[in-house]
Amino acid sequence: MPDPASAPLWVQARERLAAAQSVAVLTGAGISAESGIPTFRGAGGLWNNYRPEDLATPQAFSRDPRLVWEWYNWRRETIAKAVPNPAHRALVKLETAKPQFTLITQNVDGLHDLAGSGRILKLHGDIWRLRCTSCGAHWPDRRAPLPKLPPHCGCGGLARPGVVWFGEPLPDGMMQEAEHAAAEAEVFLVIGTSAVVYPAAGLVPFAKQSGATVIEINPEQTAFSAMADFSFQEPAGELLPKLVS
Ligand code: NAD
Repeated sequence: MPDPASAPLWVQARERLAAAQSVAVLTGAGISAESGIPTFRGAGGLWNNYRPEDLATPQAFSRDPRLVWEWYNWRRETIAKAVPNPAHRALVKLETAKPQFTLITQNVDGLHDLAGSGRILKLHGDIWRLRCTSCGAHWPDRRAPLPKLPPHCGCGGLARPGVVWFGEPLPDGMMQEAEHAAAEAEVFLVIGTSAVVYPAAGLVPFAKQSGATVIEINPEQTAFSAMADFSFQEPAGELLPKLVS
C-alpha cells in the first residue's frame, strides 16, 4: 500500500477536497485571466494610463462620470467577448458534488454565472447591472458598448455601474454569509486573487483559523501562500480541473 504522504502534492490536495463535505471557494480576477479578461494587478492592467484605483471610486465618478463610464464600457466590451474556461467549469462540477458549497467571488464579469454556477456571493457586484444614483433602481443591461454615455435611468437620474467601488461597503449581509461559509468549510479554495483587497482577503486567514485546509492556486506567490496548506503556482484552468476530477 503506497504511503499517501508520498503522493504528489496535487494528488494529496485532490484527496483532501474529495473527502470534504463542506467547501468554500474565493475567486479573484486570476480565474478569468485564461478567458482573456485582464487582471488589475500584474501584466496588462492599465487603461489609457489610468489605474483602476483612480477610476473605481465614488469620487472619480462624481468628478467625471463620463470618463468612468468610458472605462467600464471598455471593460464590458472586453468581458462580453469572453467565455468561461475550465476553471469556472470545474467549480460547477465541484458544487454538484458537495452537500455544502459556497462560491464567493470578487469578480464582476459574470463568467461564473455563464459557466452554470448556482448561488454566487458577488462581493463586488456585477458589471452587467446598472444602478440609478437618484432613485436607487437597479436593472440588468448586457449591451456592450452601451449606446449612450453616461447612461440614465427612466427617472432621469444618472446611472452607475452595479459594482462596489474602492471605499464603498459590500452588499448588505454578504460578508457575514461569506464568513459563515469560511468558518464552516473543511476545505477553502483561494483562486486567482492577489490578497490585497479587503475585506475579501480577510476570509482566507479566517478560514484557516477556523480549521479549514486552505488550497491556493495562483501562478504568483501571494500573502496567502505561506499560510496555505497547499499553494500551487499554476494557472487555475490547468490545475483546478485535475483537483476536482
Ligand atoms: P488582482 O488583479 O489583484 O490579482 C489577480 C491575481 O490573479 C494575481 O495574483 C495573479 O497572479 C493571479 N493570476 C493571474 N493569472 C492567473 C491564472 N491563470 N490562474 C490563477 N491565478 C492567476 O485581482 P483580485 O485579487 O481579484 O482583486 C482585484 C479587484 O479587481 C477585485 O475587487 C475584482 O472585483 C476586480 N477585478 C475583477 C475582474 C473580473 O471580474 N474578471 C478583473 C479585474 C479586476
